[in-house]
Amino acid sequence: MMAIVWVIVGGGAAGRAAARVLAAYCHPEEVLLLDREATVCPRLHIPQYLEEGKYPRPAPDGGVRRVRAEVVSLEPSARRLVLSDGRKVSYGRLLLATGAVPALPPLPGARLRGVISLWEWEEARRLAVFLRRGAVRAVVVGAGPLGVRAALMLTRMGCQVAVVEALPQVLPGLVSEDMAAVVRDRLRAVGVEVHCAEEVQGFEGDGRLRAVRTSRRRMPCQLAVLATGTRPDAMLAAEAGLEVRQGVVVNEHLRSSDPNVWAAGDVAEVPDAVLGRPRCYALWSAAAEQGRIAALNMAGIPRRYPPAVPFNSLDVAGLRVVSVGYPCLVGIDRVHLRSRSGGVALLSFREQTLVGAALLGTVDGGGTLYHLIRYRRLVPLPRAGQDLQRWLAGVWVPWLRRAGLREPGWTAVS
Ligand SMILES: Cc1cc2nc3c(=O)[nH]c(=O)nc-3n(C[C@H](O)[C@H](O)[C@H](O)COP(=O)(O)OP(=O)(O)OC[C@H]3O[C@@H](n4cnc5c(N)ncnc54)[C@H](O)[C@@H]3O)c2cc1C
Repeated sequence: MMAIVWVIVGGGAAGRAAARVLAAYCHPEEVLLLDREATVCPRLHIPQYLEEGKYPRPAPDGGVRRVRAEVVSLEPSARRLVLSDGRKVSYGRLLLATGAVPALPPLPGARLRGVISLWEWEEARRLAVFLRRGAVRAVVVGAGPLGVRAALMLTRMGCQVAVVEALPQVLPGLVSEDMAAVVRDRLRAVGVEVHCAEEVQGFEGDGRLRAVRTSRRRMPCQLAVLATGTRPDAMLAAEAGLEVRQGVVVNEHLRSSDPNVWAAGDVAEVPDAVLGRPRCYALWSAAAEQGRIAALNMAGIPRRYPPAVPFNSLDVAGLRVVSVGYPCLVGIDRVHLRSRSGGVALLSFREQTLVGAALLGTVDGGGTLYHLIRYRRLVPLPRAGQDLQRWLAGVWVPWLRRAGLREPGWTAVS
């Protein structure tokens, strides 16, 4: 039998992407992927599983050896992992791709049956059984992308859904107030109640959830979904003495403070192109890219991870929304644009550098904007009322053509 050289802990976006790369560059049998989940389907597919009643086919993992096991400790000096059943696994090079855990608010009643986070497969399976008994009244706490997705999914499944958001708008930080109002109206149009600037203060029930209490009202319900954010699951690294701040600290090659351990995905704290300080993302595409780059480095093919920015994309009942970078930072210049096909967009600049963009309705060009923001192109601000097409022609299009990307079709109106 071949010796295990590369071990990956976590078979989500980052772990799978890494497994595919290692399988391609090394011998698949030398790669071991450990994951504690019973299902091989990544958590991103939870909404699809709930709506369709079956597991979607997961992305391939390169045919590496996959073992269901929970890693309970890491011994970097011995290059060894300890599993929950006491077995030990040695590694040559290790990737920590353990993802994130939900950041649950410490509210009274948060442990009642019926209060869930929708982050874990175990909860998703319990929810599927619960919903099979009939539609329910549900409250979604948090109107970020996950909260909005959860609200839409439950509504499509026949539930009566209310979203409660502590901040004054839906998708806070991702789109402008005006755009958020359009998203809110679309949610209401499909039957989702939306309450912004309202804080959830606790959950009431007698073992099982009966109501959600907010700063303004009591909302009777049988289900509450906490979409209140996540935090990196960096416990293994922290307990092993690796450098951990918010997440596992990595260098530009995604290597941790231990030379034989890399980290990628929601668990890793990576450089951000706009903020100028590292942060953890909780995004599928970022995790997959980090997994690929970490694996190349683990295989001895040096690759830098270029500082990134967030990219969020969602479909709100037919209304497409894309948010790139940081469109709502304080102290930035904002230019509002309109597309010929009726979409609206916001571009945010700091010192002539694009730092964020939000697109609503027509999202063509979102990918291009992502590259411009991530790779920090110095661009002149479009003037109010300037035809963006001309601006694009002079500034972006040559670069877009060189990069082989599609040309967005926006015209500046203010
Ligand atoms: C319902 C839902 C919808 C989402 N929708 C989107 C979306 O539309 N777009 C988007 O960009 N992102 C979305 N996300 C977020 C996205 O899924 C995550 O950012 C992404 O999965 C992170 O990948 P990862 O590999 O870092 O971690 P994960 O995919 O979370 O994988 C980590 C894996 O590690 C395993 N693990 C952890 N600790 C151990 C251990 N000690 N031993 C063994 N195994 C362990 C876990 O069980 C898990 O399988 C969604 C998330 C959810 C829950």
